[in-house]
Amino acid sequence: MRIILVGPPGAGKGTQAKAIVERTGVPQISTGDMLRDARKAGTELGERAAGFMNAGKLVPDEVVIGLVDERLQRDDASIGFILDGFPRTVPQAEALEALLSRRGTPLDAVVQIDVPREMLVERAVFRRIDKRTGQSYHLKYSPPPPGAELEHRADDQAEIVEQRLAAYEAMTAALLPWYQAKGLLRRVDGARPVDEVKAEVLKVLGVGSAT
Ligand code: ADP
Ligand code: AMP
Repeated sequence: MRIILVGPPGAGKGTQAKAIVERTGVPQISTGDMLRDARKAGTELGERAAGFMNAGKLVPDEVVIGLVDERLQRDDASIGFILDGFPRTVPQAEALEALLSRRGTPLDAVVQIDVPREMLVERAVFRRIDKRTGQSYHLKYSPPPPGAELEHRADDQAEIVEQRLAAYEAMTAALLPWYQAKGLLRRVDGARPVDEVKAEVLKVLGVGSAT
């Protein structure tokens, strides 16, 4: 299974990617997580990316394309992948298409998680990540267990979230008609509770219901 999850920040891509991993065993490849790991590790790439991320801007295409190209060559991705947060621009989508076509492994589907703008800021602003497990929680909708060591992403502050939403609208939304024209796009209503969205995502991917 080779799929992309696309949607604005806070739509639930990471949450749904984890559900697909559980069901299918294919790895989640999140460029946001990879960049945050690089930033934590203090690599040159991580430091270069940090300025863009903290401002809610997209990291330059060649940086993320290089990361994804390398990551897709790892053994675990030979059975497939769930790309979460990549591609986010037309050049990224073109680069992905070129590298998958070189390998003879085309995409199976692009799942668009649709959430109205007014819900997105609330989803991001109340998101908390457990530092030890990497698990993402929501203070209202998926409260963390007692004892979790919670972190609030610097770019999950309301003003930065607005910047990220603007970047999505300016750069990423253009991918939707592109994938639609290729017959790959599957739309899912992401405004519902996590389990309902999960059932729908698994259904459109043909990997069964969530129950
Ligand atoms: P993305 O990866 O698209 O940025 P996440 O999966 O991290 O989004 O979800 C953003 C926040 O919203 C998290 O705090 C998550 O727990 C919460 N969330 C995700 N899906 C839903 C949903 N269907 N209903 C309510 N909250 C959700
Ligand atoms: P995310 O975790 O997907 O919300 O991404 C967090 C931040 O990482 C984004 O706001 C961007 O600054 C950067 N980023 C992640 N993926 C990409 C991508 N495919 N292209 C450009 N920037 C990205």
